[in-house]
Amino acid sequence: MSREEVPSLEEFVDGVEKRNPGQPEFIQSVKEVAHSVLDFIKENPKYHEHQILERMAEPDRVLSFRVCWIDDEGHVRVNRGYRIQNNNAIGPYKGGIRFHPSVNQSILKFLAFEQTLKNALTGLPMGGGKGGSNFNPKGKSNAEVMRFCQSFMTELYRHIGEDTDVPAGDIGVGGREIGYMFGQYKRITNRYVGVLTGKGMEYGGSPIRTEATGYGAVYFMQDMLTHVGKTPEGRIALVSGSGNVAQHAVEKLLQLGAKPVTMSDSSGFIYDKAGITQEKLDFVKDLKNNRRGRIEEYATKFGAEFHGNSARPWSVPGELAVPCATQNEINADDARTMLGNGVIAVSEGANMPTELDAVHLFQEARIMFAPGKAANAGGVGVSGLEMSQNSARITWKEEELQKLLRDIMQSIHDRCVKYGSSGSDKYVDYVKGANIGGFVKVADAMIAQGVV
Ligand code: NDP
Repeated sequence: MSREEVPSLEEFVDGVEKRNPGQPEFIQSVKEVAHSVLDFIKENPKYHEHQILERMAEPDRVLSFRVCWIDDEGHVRVNRGYRIQNNNAIGPYKGGIRFHPSVNQSILKFLAFEQTLKNALTGLPMGGGKGGSNFNPKGKSNAEVMRFCQSFMTELYRHIGEDTDVPAGDIGVGGREIGYMFGQYKRITNRYVGVLTGKGMEYGGSPIRTEATGYGAVYFMQDMLTHVGKTPEGRIALVSGSGNVAQHAVEKLLQLGAKPVTMSDSSGFIYDKAGITQEKLDFVKDLKNNRRGRIEEYATKFGAEFHGNSARPWSVPGELAVPCATQNEINADDARTMLGNGVIAVSEGANMPTELDAVHLFQEARIMFAPGKAANAGGVGVSGLEMSQNSARITWKEEELQKLLRDIMQSIHDRCVKYGSSGSDKYVDYVKGANIGGFVKVADAMIAQGVV
């Protein structure tokens, strides 16, 4: 192959695999994007001349550091911290911090790569980054979590800043962890700036940031349904996860008249045939956010089914699915079962919850399938608005932010329709639409800024 030729998907992926051995999640995410954009690059050779996809798939910077802390028994503990600064062509790096034992470079590079395209889709000036640690907050006391967060920030602070890189929450990092990290940043730098988003309302947080990802994923579902003349009303919805994103996805599904019947955590899932109500959801919020308990308690309390052994809810019949737990939680077998049970739309609240084979099955069946980089962009969208409010040192009204979130999701949907429609029928390839829609904006900015 000469440099003048756009590589085939196999050639491109082969190169990515050689450069990133032992990083399956990263390779999977780059492959998925390359699958959508290589034909587009062939039609628009400037993106090949400037090696845009190759550059986008090589992070600007990969930071890895030791995080030492002392547990409640006085033992010294050692974890590994990371920050991946993937691309800042359209704004400061922006993306969450994940605390989970599974965290490694591959997972964070995939998330930072996805984040770059996702942030572009929001229309706001934010580049892509991601960070985290293999620290497991489960079972740790508040004091231990605080000491860990302080130690983590003691290294991270030198790499971030309100105009450089603005982290947020993700799995295992909620309001509590953001608070401890913000406190330590302020203490070390003696600066009170919007260096993190997802902050508490008392100290620079934005209304509806907590709700934004889950609400946004369901708004996106609503927009897909509207596009084909349907509504969520009366439809049974399967939700996985029971953390931040899942809780607010269930809440918005309820508000739109759908009937959510499942939630899960890493131990298994609950199936509530009668439907999860707001009252039952409030129980889950208290269970997960305050008491940090297991989802099985829901089944005991409300007489619902509990399926253990880390089972996932995809065998339950339902028309709508909103996976909100983690990556690769829907495989090809799950997808076949869901299709057999009549699923019509999937909106990814989590990042890459659907394996590639399963995505292809959904696409072949021509059901509505929204990838996370489009469907869950509401969270980072409102984070972008939190940054604006912090810079101006004001807080906007909740109604205003509700409307802005709705508008952001609608405009992402429109962008996906623009780049993902083909032919005259109503079918939209949302994966292609989101990948090309995000790619174009970042790519044009990279070309304008030269080879840097
Ligand atoms: P939380 O930590 O609040 O909740 C995560 C949920 O997923 C918990 O119920 C957890 O169960 C479950 N879970 C995590 N890992 C696994 C696993 N390996 N197997 C089974 N279940 C698992 O995280 P969020 O709700 O914030 O994030 C969920 C997803 O949404 C992630 O993919 C994240 O990247 C994505 N996302 C989050 C955004 C946000 O604003 N928070 C923004 C955009 C995307 P358990 O408690 O047992 O671990």
